[in-house]
Amino acid sequence: MRGRFAPSPTGELHLGNARTALLAWLQARSAGGRFVLRVEDLDRGRVRPGYREAQLADLCWLGLDWDEGPDVGGPCAPYLQSQRTAGYTQALRRLAAAGRLYACTCSRKDVAAAASAPHADDDEGPRYPGRCAQRAVGPADVERTTLPDGTPAALRLRVPEREVRFHDAVQGACVFRPADETGDFVVRRKDGAAAYQLAVVVDDDAMRITHVLRGADLLASTARQLLLYDALGLQAPAWAHVPLLLGPDGVRLAKRHGAVTLRELRERGAAPEVLVGWLAASCGLAEPGEAVSPRELVGRFRLERLPREPTRVASVPG
Ligand code: GLU
Repeated sequence: MRGRFAPSPTGELHLGNARTALLAWLQARSAGGRFVLRVEDLDRGRVRPGYREAQLADLCWLGLDWDEGPDVGGPCAPYLQSQRTAGYTQALRRLAAAGRLYACTCSRKDVAAAASAPHADDDEGPRYPGRCAQRAVGPADVERTTLPDGTPAALRLRVPEREVRFHDAVQGACVFRPADETGDFVVRRKDGAAAYQLAVVVDDDAMRITHVLRGADLLASTARQLLLYDALGLQAPAWAHVPLLLGPDGVRLAKRHGAVTLRELRERGAAPEVLVGWLAASCGLAEPGEAVSPRELVGRFRLERLPREPTRVASVPG
């Protein structure tokens, strides 16, 4: 069993990220598996210097550890996506050879949205109508970021007209129809970087991840990722999409609810066990008010007991 946490160094980790990290860590540790930390730093427009180190320090402070990662190395190094470009190019070549890619010059907004992991309800924006679908790209051209006339172009995957079904350990049976929901989606951006959907599939495969546990905001992405697993002939991992944390007003936990980043909470003097207890209590793994370390939770962790609904918290800790 190999699990992972894959933060994007675009900001401070907040309570929602911390809860997902804790649960992914518990899933791996309770199964006696290995836990991998991978930094998803492909979105040059949003990555900021210093956040990677700060995020890793926050996770250590909480009491989490990892067997492989950018700071400790490991057999699947490098663990920074920005250093894994060769694997993405190779995957793009295979997709192109199978006739699945075309060059797309459509609006920058679509492309930007596809590049980073979605943080809103869904990411890809409106369904792409296939305006550029006639511009097939061959394997030799997947690194070209412009058309022959110099117009910047992204690469999109031709999405088959079929349902994608999968089982999610928390959400149950899931059915999506990417052809209707997003249409052909971006797998390589105009700036040459692999899009999130492609990079996450290539890396979860290359790092031999058997179990992906992440936030439920990525549930719809999973269907697109399964199309990529299929197109690349790769074996998909088992999925678990854990509910999001909502503030007292029922809206996704954010700054306006108070101190929600781990850094702010640390600076206010919160003890890690108090925070871990709060996070665990928010999904039924601890009693309200209990202070507990991640280690102490390993024996209590049961994926099937996690709530499926988003968790509305009455107040933030501290
Ligand atoms: N890097 C993504 C994020 O921070 C997570 C990707 C994943 O877990 O698949 O939202």
